Amino acid sequence: MTIPVAKCSSCGACANACARGAITMQLDKEGFYRPVVDESVCSKCGTCERVCPWTRIVTNPNESSASPKTIAAYVKDEQVRLESSSGGIFSALAERVIEDGGAVVGVAQVAPTRFEQIIVENKADLSKLRGSKYVQANVGMAYKQVRALLLEGRKVLFSGTPCQVAALYSVLGKNHFENLWTIDIVCHGTPSVKVFEKYIHELENKSSATILFSCFRDKREGWRSFSLSSFLKFVSGEGKIHSRNFREDFFLQIFLQNICLNRSCTDCHYGKLPRIADITLGDYWNVADVHPKLDDDKGTSVVLLNTSHGEGLFSSIADCTVRCNSTLEKAIAGNPCIVRSSKENFRRIEFFADLDRFSVEDLVKKYCVPLSLHKIVLLKIRNFMRKCFR
Ligand SMILES: Cc1cc2nc3c(=O)[nH]c(=O)nc-3n(C[C@H](O)[C@H](O)[C@H](O)COP(=O)(O)OP(=O)(O)OC[C@H]3O[C@@H](n4cnc5c(N)ncnc54)[C@H](O)[C@@H]3O)c2cc1C
Ligand code: SF4
Ligand code: SF4
Ligand code: SF4
Repeated sequence: MTIPVAKCSSCGACANACARGAITMQLDKEGFYRPVVDESVCSKCGTCERVCPWTRIVTNPNESSASPKTIAAYVKDEQVRLESSSGGIFSALAERVIEDGGAVVGVAQVAPTRFEQIIVENKADLSKLRGSKYVQANVGMAYKQVRALLLEGRKVLFSGTPCQVAALYSVLGKNHFENLWTIDIVCHGTPSVKVFEKYIHELENKSSATILFSCFRDKREGWRSFSLSSFLKFVSGEGKIHSRNFREDFFLQIFLQNICLNRSCTDCHYGKLPRIADITLGDYWNVADVHPKLDDDKGTSVVLLNTSHGEGLFSSIADCTVRCNSTLEKAIAGNPCIVRSSKENFRRIEFFADLDRFSVEDLVKKYCVPLSLHKIVLLKIRNFMRKCFR
């Protein structure tokens, strides 16, 4: 395969498409999943390159609009909303598909430092998919499994990053599946597994405890507190939750300052309009300014209805949501990643060169600047305006 590492989004389309099973996704030295080809099995057929969403532009077969209807919304179920990163709209859509006998594909934490796309077939297990995990996930054979479910006549809701949704459509090929719905998240980029693993291990050593689970968007102090919580277990058997907001937490600082993202994330082909999925979900960060009635600091989603297929599914959850019509312009003003990639941190190369030499705390001291969430959003908007008008 000749896809340059800088272009590889780790989407796993190549591994899913290889009929000989010659490709496995393995972590590289920076901690991102890359395709590794077993040359003794490979027949040089070229399918892996043809299916790669970085060698061609993949589009949504339901014809995605470049000016989608835009909604601000959240679910009425307070517990689901609390467990979700923004307004919990993902869970409401997923529940509806499961009620109709369908399956839902999304990212779960499968080990303290590992995240994977998994298939969920009952409402109780949806909690595994709820909430953003700010670490790159292993897609495994999810696209092949989706194809098998669709061929059985099952309904499927697939959710993931835009590049994963593009990879799914690429693997499915020209076939049009009426029973498939897709959700893409507004995507800042995915951080390295190695950086998260290092952060967790250092926290474990410091607290003399084992970390079983992390919640990347703990809302107990409010949605805007943007807090990461780790669930510690001590040898005594006692447990404790260790929570830090984005100003205090080392990992969140590294993530939000774009220093440990996959390189493809700063030149993303799919995080823009027209969006790749039927429905796009993100945080409606500026909702207090533009739709104050929908803001209570418990999380509000921005929802883009990119296709009529997606609009149909979203209208089926009207009874369990609070919503109002918005505009694309208002949503983009608070969330530029709807239309463009995050900007590469100019010290990324130095950071990864230092990764094995310094502690995470020292890396933060060396490479990060203290920022408020307000400043981060302002910086993103300024960069976006510069791009538009230069
Ligand atoms: C890496 C990452 C970066 C993001 N960047 C932004 C951003 O810049 N701006 C913004 O507005 N929103 C961003 N989001 C999306 C946002 O945090 C919420 O996930 C989204 O608003 C949906 O929220 P919800 O309350 O409806 O459902 P939630 O229950 O919070 O959403 C869960 C969904 O996210 C998916 N998911 C979780 N982790 C991952 C992962 N690692 N890889 C792929 N899919 C995953 C799950 O499959 C599930 O579908 C990001 C999410 C992730 C994972
Ligand atoms: S060239 Fe063909 S056989 Fe070889 S890895 Fe790619 S898809 Fe598999
Ligand atoms: S298909 Fe995806 S994982 Fe494979 S090389 Fe292309 S971008 Fe990378
Ligand atoms: S920013 Fe683009 S390349 Fe990176 S994870 Fe998101 S969709 Fe994929």
